Amino acid sequence: ASALYVVATPIGNVSDVTLRALHVLQLADAVACEDTRNTGHLLARYGLAKELVAAHEHNEREVAQRLIARLQAGQRIALVSDAGTPAVSDPGARIVDAVRAAGLRVIPLPGASAAVAALSASGLVNDRFHFIGFLPAKPAQRMAQLEALRAASSTLVFYEAPHRIVDTVNALAQAFEPTRQLVLARELTKLFEEIHRCPVAEAPGWLAQDAHRQKGEFVLLLEGAAEERDAGDAEADRVLTILLQECS
Ligand code: SAM
Repeated sequence: ASALYVVATPIGNVSDVTLRALHVLQLADAVACEDTRNTGHLLARYGLAKELVAAHEHNEREVAQRLIARLQAGQRIALVSDAGTPAVSDPGARIVDAVRAAGLRVIPLPGASAAVAALSASGLVNDRFHFIGFLPAKPAQRMAQLEALRAASSTLVFYEAPHRIVDTVNALAQAFEPTRQLVLARELTKLFEEIHRCPVAEAPGWLAQDAHRQKGEFVLLLEGAAEERDAGDAEADRVLTILLQECS
């Protein structure tokens, strides 16, 4: 049926494309993508040749209007990004928003996302995570954002590119208590995949030990703050103790 299909693609290993993604890509009248060359390669690998529509950060609104017209004419449009799930630290959200506002159907096709892959293999035991994505590049802004996150008890999830990994890990080591666990998940699903966990204070040293460790794409997971029992909990405990004494 006519709809905008938001299709997750692999984050490294091409076999991570889903059967449903291939089926939808095959049926699509056009594929809206971040980079036509990149998506062209992926489709070619599976023997698919499709009309590709470039949809990146700078033309998303205008492309959305063209896609809406095609959806209204009954077409199926697939939306992909270069890697992983569209609209997660990637373009796509504006198109989805415009298509939904036009009253048209949007169907997600779940698949790879670097954040979820890293969380699943981290061994950090916490059901809650706070997705930050990329930190600001400017040191002052980066530090201000990290300070604002100091008290958060959820696992913090960051994305980082190779050229900034050292700066970002140094900033984390500066901003947080030294014993907090940091997971560095590098090149997930790729040949040089590596998942290293250590206290955040030791992470800059670990990265410096071997230049290879600074290469590739990273997800950083930082253990959340130890939860402090707030004043409300303490008062509840006090009342409960008195009640229990009364009962005995
Ligand atoms: N949409 C993607 C997703 O669903 O995860 C994220 C795209 S974002 C532009 C690219 C960033 O995602 C990289 O800088 C890195 O932080 C993370 N990333 C993507 N692929 C990765 C991989 N194979 N291993 C580790 N991190 C990855």
